[in-house]
Amino acid sequence: MTQAINDEILEKLSLKNRYSFLNTNLMSILTPDEFNFLKEVERFCQRYEKKNNITHGPEEDLYEWVEDFGQEGYITRAHNFDMVDVNYEYWGLTAEFIKTLAIDMFSPQFLMGSGATVLAVNPVYWHHDDVPVRLEALKAMVTGKTPGAILITEPDRGSDAVHQLTTCDEQDDGSFILNGTKIYNTNAPKAGYVVCYATTEANNPNQMAQFLIDTSWDGFNVERVNIPWVPKLWLGKEELNNLHVPREYVLGAPGKGREYLFEGLVPERISIAIMSLAQCWGSVAHAAIYANLREQFNQEILKFQGVGFLLSDLWAQTTNLSLAMLKFCQAYDEKVEKFGGDMEIPGNIQQAMVASASQLKYQAAKLSKDVCYEAGNLMGGAGLCDNTLMHDYINISRIQEIVGGSRQIQQYIMSRALRTLYKMSGI
Ligand SMILES: Cc1cc2nc3c(=O)[nH]c(=O)nc-3n(C[C@H](O)[C@H](O)[C@H](O)COP(=O)(O)OP(=O)(O)OC[C@H]3O[C@@H](n4cnc5c(N)ncnc54)[C@H](O)[C@@H]3O)c2cc1C
Repeated sequence: MTQAINDEILEKLSLKNRYSFLNTNLMSILTPDEFNFLKEVERFCQRYEKKNNITHGPEEDLYEWVEDFGQEGYITRAHNFDMVDVNYEYWGLTAEFIKTLAIDMFSPQFLMGSGATVLAVNPVYWHHDDVPVRLEALKAMVTGKTPGAILITEPDRGSDAVHQLTTCDEQDDGSFILNGTKIYNTNAPKAGYVVCYATTEANNPNQMAQFLIDTSWDGFNVERVNIPWVPKLWLGKEELNNLHVPREYVLGAPGKGREYLFEGLVPERISIAIMSLAQCWGSVAHAAIYANLREQFNQEILKFQGVGFLLSDLWAQTTNLSLAMLKFCQAYDEKVEKFGGDMEIPGNIQQAMVASASQLKYQAAKLSKDVCYEAGNLMGGAGLCDNTLMHDYINISRIQEIVGGSRQIQQYIMSRALRTLYKMSGI
């Protein structure tokens, strides 16, 4: 790597200083417990980066870090996972929000990879039914023994995820044989376990089923799909050829798959919204530090209105969305506590949350695309060269609107929700 940014500014752009900027912004907003957890995860990331001489250069394999973060309890804090003796004291959606902010600033691609593992963790958490092989898979993914992946998308079925072409045929002993092709599944070539959807009858949403798959089984064939904007992530294209799934691995029998797919989509959209927001903070932190130090025409560039006012706009939008998202997370956690679990939240509240999840995902993804690009722009060449994570933010922010349901699909869901909420309002 050729150094393009001068020593003083490069040093000031350290992870420690970017965390300081984030903390200064959040200290008046977070509760003491939330703030302590933020600092705990930040401390770990800072030490980890230093101890392992991590430079975030192109040669580093972020899958090598998964186990260390898993052992520390930083793959997911969505639940306390007492059924596999993990027992986090501090957990829930707000904990997930905070963990995401801290880890994304360390490495946005690593954070996205662990977010994809969580998409496989959630269905196994909800549908383990105390079956030993499912608990074993759950523990392995939560503790970082292996990444996980979720297999929804197919080459011919993306946005239209309920009309699946991958088939599952039930055998006399209750096991299933799967055939079909899946694509763009984050982590899949590196994952020990994946959660996959298939149907007994192609194109029939009412016959969908959900399966846990051990990727070492015969008939699971995976190739890497390269997404140049996230070059360190491994996405998969999987050919399932007469893949035999034993009965204990059937998380949801035919007829249950569609419902299980949708219950996973609210947390997925929220986690993408949080990830997009974290990208905004990462890029604003870089730009704010840089603009306070970089001089042109004998002044810090922040003092030119063209820079200072644009940066203020990005910062205001990022702060405001943080407040909205934090409130959503806290309200969600209160409901989980009140009703005794996320699956116990009553239907009408769930319905309102489906709308909120789409609203937040829609706006956060759009904001990430704008904020990361504009913040990079304010850094000139320094924002585009490979000396900092800024180029990573610009790249990863390009894909947020597609992952987890495109912009148009969120708009479609929101417009449908407007109809449902209108009817629920009794007008
Ligand atoms: C980096 C990355 C990671 C991913 N990770 C995963 C993963 O872990 N697991 C997984 O299963 N999938 C994953 N995906 C797949 C992702 O969810 C899909 O790419 C996405 O849902 C869009 O599907 P598609 O690519 O087939 O596009 P299409 O559905 O073909 O859409 C093409 C365009 O048409 C528009 N469109 C489609 N239908 C409508 C409509 N009804 N109204 C208006 N516009 C419409 C879309 O908005 C889009 O602009 C990932 C994708 C990427 C790029």
